[in-house]
Amino acid sequence: MANMKIKKGDQVRVVSGKEAGKTAKVLRVDPQKRRVVLERLNLAKKHTKPNPKKNPQGGVIEQETPLDASNVMLVCPACGQPTRVGYRVTEDGAKVRRCRRPNCGKDIDKA
Ligand SMILES: [Zn+2]
Repeated sequence: MANMKIKKGDQVRVVSGKEAGKTAKVLRVDPQKRRVVLERLNLAKKHTKPNPKKNPQGGVIEQETPLDASNVMLVCPACGQPTRVGYRVTEDGAKVRRCRRPNCGKDIDKA
């Protein structure tokens, strides 16, 4: 199975679907299903029972639902642009993600 290029905490740009063009932070990734959950995007209304701690009245809350990982592109923290992800192996053998924009090429992860 292909490695997930998107990780929790990344900033991503949605490139297709109803949220296309928006940028958000990744809250969760599901490598098995190749899905990502983005902060405050792709919301669905969910009916809840009253919960004394969180929501005493119960009712309808909005909750993030997963998107297919193929619908998002990583936003490079160095150049701020959505990019495809490359890899680079550091001197001590760690694999770091790298921006593939020709005029950037910076590491996305700390080496
Ligand atoms: Zn970049």
